[in-house]
Amino acid sequence: MSAKQKTRIRTTGLAIFGKELIRRCGSHCELCKAQGVKLVVHEVPPSPGTPDPEHCIMVCEDCQRQLLSPKRIEASHWRCLAASMWSDIPAVKVTSLLMLQQLEETEPWAAELLEQAWLAPEEARWLSDAGHL
Ligand SMILES: [Zn+2]
Repeated sequence: MSAKQKTRIRTTGLAIFGKELIRRCGSHCELCKAQGVKLVVHEVPPSPGTPDPEHCIMVCEDCQRQLLSPKRIEASHWRCLAASMWSDIPAVKVTSLLMLQQLEETEPWAAELLEQAWLAPEEARWLSDAGHL
């Protein structure tokens, strides 16, 4: 199978379980809770190889843009992480903590939140795998 075909299958898979994700997130951004905005599927690294809803979160375009280009992070947008870092959904939790790790160097409030973070062993492993990409 060519790389292009693989990409196509992968994208289709993401579209199918997008519905499942929309149910889970209740139509708001799973990070900043924005509602009534366009939501996109964000795959949390490291990629599991096959599309997996457990490895994806629904986010608004504002969050996704900043997740994808760390240079464009606006710290004030990410105060929402204080709530999302306690999510029952591991992918949301891991993404929140990854973002806090990026913010902590310049934002004291982010460092404080990270100190309070609690992770199950498999979430801690995921976080460390994602952080070393
Ligand atoms: Zn958002």
